[in-house]
Amino acid sequence: MQKNFIHFRLFEEKTSSKPKFCVTCGLNATQEALFNVGDGVILVEKYCDAFAKNVK
Ligand SMILES: [Zn+2]
Repeated sequence: MQKNFIHFRLFEEKTSSKPKFCVTCGLNATQEALFNVGDGVILVEKYCDAFAKNVK
């Protein structure tokens, strides 16, 4: 599946009751990376600060 990185957005913990975890390391996530995977579909993955730097 082709993923084209769009941008990051911070998400607010207040708006969610569930903790969010980084998809890479499993620590608490602080931001979301949005990817366009085609056909108008947006994929969202959560990352902590450390691993967010590696997302392209
Ligand atoms: Zn992480």
